Amino acid sequence: MKQGSGLPVFSGVAIGKAVVYQKTQRRDAAVGTPAEEQAKFDAACVEAKAQLNTLFEKAKADLGEEHAAIVEVQMLMLDDLDYLEGVAAEISAGSSASEAAAGTGEMMAQMFASLDDAYMQARSADIRDVSQRVADIICGGSGFHLPDGNFLLVAEDLAPSETIQLPRDRILAFITQQGSSSSHTAILARTLNIPSLVQSDIFLSDAADCEILAVDGFTGQWYMDPDAETLAMLQKKQAEAAADRASLEAYRGKKSITKTGKQILLCANIGSPEDAESAVAGDAEGIGLMRSEFLYLGRDTLPTEDELFEAYKKVAQTMGDRPVVIRTLDIGADKQVDYMGLEQEENPALGLRGLRICLTRKDDIFRPQLRAIYRASTYGNLHIMFPMVASVWELQESKALCAEIRTELESEGIPTKEVPIGVMVETPAAAVMAGELAKEAAFFSVGTNDLTQYTLAVDRQNAKLGRFYDPHHPAIMALLAHIAKSAQDNGIWAGICGELGADPELTETFIKMGFTELSMAPGRVLETRKLVCESEE
Ligand code: PEP
Ligand code: MG
Repeated sequence: MKQGSGLPVFSGVAIGKAVVYQKTQRRDAAVGTPAEEQAKFDAACVEAKAQLNTLFEKAKADLGEEHAAIVEVQMLMLDDLDYLEGVAAEISAGSSASEAAAGTGEMMAQMFASLDDAYMQARSADIRDVSQRVADIICGGSGFHLPDGNFLLVAEDLAPSETIQLPRDRILAFITQQGSSSSHTAILARTLNIPSLVQSDIFLSDAADCEILAVDGFTGQWYMDPDAETLAMLQKKQAEAAADRASLEAYRGKKSITKTGKQILLCANIGSPEDAESAVAGDAEGIGLMRSEFLYLGRDTLPTEDELFEAYKKVAQTMGDRPVVIRTLDIGADKQVDYMGLEQEENPALGLRGLRICLTRKDDIFRPQLRAIYRASTYGNLHIMFPMVASVWELQESKALCAEIRTELESEGIPTKEVPIGVMVETPAAAVMAGELAKEAAFFSVGTNDLTQYTLAVDRQNAKLGRFYDPHHPAIMALLAHIAKSAQDNGIWAGICGELGADPELTETFIKMGFTELSMAPGRVLETRKLVCESEE
């Protein structure tokens, strides 16, 4: 038996056959003249675009626009002048078409990976992926073939276009050597509710040779050919987890009320309009956080007001009377888009992000988004929430713009509805000033991911700082208690939409503090409802 560990991104136990995903390393042996090689490359690009187009349609149908947009980014790469000129130069210098395609892609991928920007770093996987696709086509196709039946997928890393092609219903777990808890693989694992590890110490060659691979998403351990005792332990855990999941079904359709009669609203966090369907399937009582920036990522122009309107309308209609909190654009920091022309910053997490961008770019960014939200308001129960608020004036100025936009729409004959406007409390300043902000806001929702980062001065993206990033820190608990009390004193509701919202160790504490809403991944709602219903608070 061999064993090791990784960073778990979703809980559960999986035991089965391992399939190692290895990108093809083959290169074509016969090198023709530069003109012949260039022609091979050009033809392969046409074929790659066709393949990506098919993938795009499949991704849109299976996974929604957000995942499909990732494929679109790769299609654009095939028209990128730097890439095309790089390949042409290598071919002129005597390289084969496939060497030039993969080599230039690898060089650009390494350049992106070295940039001091998490979003651009993540794009390096897309570049490597698409150039490898072209190289594979030149060499006659990819060498990766899936066996029949279910399997655990082991890989160095998985590019979005690779995960999209996989048969989702047959994957029991992902184990990757790279990736982070916010990588595409991790997001997919959570969507599929399967145990997965990223940043693991697994060797691909060992995994390819083993008979049985097991992963424990509760502890972050993996086991190859587990001995009888370990296998029995894992099977027991797996059976217990399945029984737990089944028993949670008893809470479906129930209200989330404590033994003393306090009602807590359990909502879902979503990134795309399609995710609202997962929220309904997870029995969420509303959307506590729609990360609207996903509508802006993975494309090369700003979404139009109409596109945004359609997206918000879809969420509003899917959720009906249930509340939907739309967070206004929170781009910047780890989520960057080229087309906004934002300058490189020394400290992006402390830079122009969230509401700061909106207040700086009212005409082309803030107004269209707010107009779209108000236009969609009559289709459901929408709420607006501003991210990264640090001062009362930012909230006042944003609210004034909302009022102006509502009047403007009404004067254009477009009906609107009252939309409660709240604050995402995620800066220490907003937490400390909660009493003042509560006089201006209709609700609070605490972004504990950023509140932890900024209060403890610990970069949430930096894997090396793991044990210093402690959302249970007494400083965070003190701020949370103060936020809940300030909300109560001023007659508004307060919720939690950061990762802590689904932390079972804190559910009772939050109820005791006075929070009345918790928002989380759709798959966590039922287990949290059980805790609420069992609470004596
Ligand atoms: C947070 O900061 O806690 C949060 C929910 O927002 P995000 O993770 O998108 O920054
Ligand atoms: Mg945040």
